[in-house]
Amino acid sequence: MIEQLGLRDRILSCTHSVLEGVRFLTIEGTAVRVPLPGGAYPELGLTRSRLDHVLLEHARSCGVDVYEATTLKALKRLPNGWRMESEAGWFEAGQLIAADGRNSTVARLLGLMPPPLPAERVAVQTHLPSPLDLGRDVVLQFLKEGYAGLAPVGADTANLCLVCRPGDLQSIKSWAATQFNLSEDQPWRSITPLRRAPLPATGERLWFTGDTARVVEPFTGEGIAYALRSGALCSDALLAENPGLYERNHGALYRGRLWVNQMARWACLHPLAGSALVRAGRYFPSIFSLLTRKVVA
Ligand SMILES: Cc1cc2nc3c(=O)[nH]c(=O)nc-3n(C[C@H](O)[C@H](O)[C@H](O)COP(=O)(O)OP(=O)(O)OC[C@H]3O[C@@H](n4cnc5c(N)ncnc54)[C@H](O)[C@@H]3O)c2cc1C
Repeated sequence: MIEQLGLRDRILSCTHSVLEGVRFLTIEGTAVRVPLPGGAYPELGLTRSRLDHVLLEHARSCGVDVYEATTLKALKRLPNGWRMESEAGWFEAGQLIAADGRNSTVARLLGLMPPPLPAERVAVQTHLPSPLDLGRDVVLQFLKEGYAGLAPVGADTANLCLVCRPGDLQSIKSWAATQFNLSEDQPWRSITPLRRAPLPATGERLWFTGDTARVVEPFTGEGIAYALRSGALCSDALLAENPGLYERNHGALYRGRLWVNQMARWACLHPLAGSALVRAGRYFPSIFSLLTRKVVA
């Protein structure tokens, strides 16, 4: 997608880290390492703000009017489209693409948001100085509370995500504070839900992309790729005035791939079993190589 948008050089000129491997760690700290494919299209670690900046600049250069820090507050169906209210005033459009994430305001205002699932987990995220032994690997560690994902994002900085049930948040943050020498006022950003029922990809003059349409387990780090790809499929179908095309292609985008994500979710919900899987991976490393290849393919 980045290549198709002509943004490869722009992305590579941002501060980033070329990722070399994934280390899976059991609760006790036993590790299995899987090298990532390098070559001309390696996996990259970079901060979300840098990626968003490049994408928004590109959108502007293509003639898109970008309104940052402008929140959609109300939405009204018109006979031939939509009327949207924000702090920046009213906007009207013939078609509406809801790309506003897992807690989509559009879906909520239209009464389409699926009810929250019981016992849903939360995630928290922060940036910290990259630990010396991290190198250019991603580390995915099972913990008794859930799991931690650590990835270098360039400039000696790492991105840390913790995932657990709400009742275990203090405990998992204490683990991180000890492990990474974090102070009490370390800023954390929380993200929820990690799972919810998918929405139909289209409605009347309405299109859903990325997390708005379907939330995937973050463990495999595929969400941004799905969001970019679904956005491209949506724009192709919108230009062809063919919602059915988007529904088919959107379904095909996830078909045959979600089992890895579901397996990852299962392991994350049962960290003892996830740890056992990692231990098995020490004797059968091809299992993890296969799963990792499937994710990055
Ligand atoms: C803990 C965690 C770690 C993750 N790690 C990775 C990873 O390493 N790699 C990866 O690829 N994916 C990862 N993901 C998944 C990834 O973040 C998402 O899949 C991806 O961001 C989805 O993109 P999106 O554009 O659909 O939604 P978002 O990125 O959520 O973007 C939605 C946008 O809509 C805006 N918005 C929301 N409401 C309104 C409103 N009312 N008015 C105006 N604007 C609004 C938001 O400000 C935001 O800019 C992770 C997710 C979690 C929870």
